[in-house]
Amino acid sequence: MPCWPKRGRRLLQPIAKATEAAPAKINLALHVTGRRGDGYHLLDSLVAFADIADRVTVEPAAEMSLDVTGPRAAGVPADARNLVWKAAALSGAPPVAITLEKHLPAAAGIGGGSSDAAATLRALERLGLASLPDPADLLELGADLPVCLSPRAVRMEGIGETLSPVPPLPPLWCLLVNPGVALSTPAVFAALETRENPGLRGHMPVGAGAFCAWLAGQRNDLEPPALRLAPVIRDVLAALAAQPGCALARMSGSGATCFGLFPAEAPARAAAAALSRAEPGWWVAAGRLA
Ligand code: ATP
Repeated sequence: MPCWPKRGRRLLQPIAKATEAAPAKINLALHVTGRRGDGYHLLDSLVAFADIADRVTVEPAAEMSLDVTGPRAAGVPADARNLVWKAAALSGAPPVAITLEKHLPAAAGIGGGSSDAAATLRALERLGLASLPDPADLLELGADLPVCLSPRAVRMEGIGETLSPVPPLPPLWCLLVNPGVALSTPAVFAALETRENPGLRGHMPVGAGAFCAWLAGQRNDLEPPALRLAPVIRDVLAALAAQPGCALARMSGSGATCFGLFPAEAPARAAAAALSRAEPGWWVAAGRLA
């Protein structure tokens, strides 16, 4: 069923295609609290999103197709192995042509594939080609799929299926830096030494200063194993922490992307420029946190 624009009687044209942003997912804190009998890890994570994004365009077509473009397209599968294709198949939608514009590095701990898949599902819904699946049904595509479906700050627990609201985040800018090392999520979990750690502690404060201080008392339990697999992450964290105005530096997800939090935009932009100059081989991007 085509999707008809709601406003204006003159505009009785079905929407021919839909484009959705697929923002970078950032684990502001990620605690590994246990492991289920089936091997899945239990998490307690504060997840947010940055307005640094891939773009997914979906349009009805005679057969399924996928075109992967953009500066970070190299190495990303352009067939049924891609999560956008898997998401479209899982949704039960008729065939569509998908264009995926990659700006986020892959296998980088910022949920690129999951966010792309979730953006595909939102586009299919806007086109009236499928309804949004139950988030729990998306876990088979990845633990980050449910949280990426409605990209906004949230607490994520269980194996990724339990999402609870958090107070609005203070205005913060984030600087994402990836040293060009792809890390496999299963390899990082396999290198984890302690699997039963405490969950997030205390209540999330509202102001930027208090929020960053509270966050500094939380952790990413995947940082130690990721550092053993990719020691360059230590350099990234040190470079971020040394930037004027950086309130906190931490790794996101299973790495290797790290983030720096800045209460103001200008220092975040200045740090992005300084790091790009100093380390031309690193991927560096600054954006607002939401
Ligand atoms: P997470 O933060 O959830 O651990 P990630 O950043 O580690 O995610 P992805 O960017 O999703 O991982 O990529 C992991 C692997 O998935 C890639 O190496 C790639 O082969 C495959 N892949 C499938 N679909 C995509 C996609 N749309 N974008 C990037 N990689 C994809």
